[in-house]
Amino acid sequence: MTTIQNATDWTDLNCSSCGAFICRIAVPLGGPAQCQPCQNRAPGCASWCAEGEHSDALFLDDAVCWGPEVVIPLSLEPSPGLALIPSLEISPRRQIARGVDSVYVCWQHLFGTDIDLSVSEARQLAAVLLTIADRVDVD
Ligand SMILES: [Zn+2]
Ligand SMILES: [Zn+2]
Repeated sequence: MTTIQNATDWTDLNCSSCGAFICRIAVPLGGPAQCQPCQNRAPGCASWCAEGEHSDALFLDDAVCWGPEVVIPLSLEPSPGLALIPSLEISPRRQIARGVDSVYVCWQHLFGTDIDLSVSEARQLAAVLLTIADRVDVD
């Protein structure tokens, strides 16, 4: 039986695909390691996808990766209904069959409206929003 003498030699082992913590190890591994969800990940599934397996997708077209959603409540927009708060919901999205990654933006109001932005378009929008917000914030 091996005993570990020096506890300070322990290091975190993180998934080489998604970066998630797997465990603490005392001896370096020979190569990269993957967490269990990444080992079961469907071909083409994004490292940030919460689902991973996509085993419930009947057709490849049904397999869509969704990452963590961020919700921004909108204070200036009218409420879409009783006790409903207007909001923007933003998520990373991958349509696996089409090979398209996007920044998905859904505006929750009376009728939900959504758009897919490419990564480049999302960066442009973010830069423009910052510039204009700074301009409006001056006065
Ligand atoms: Zn992983
Ligand atoms: Zn996925």
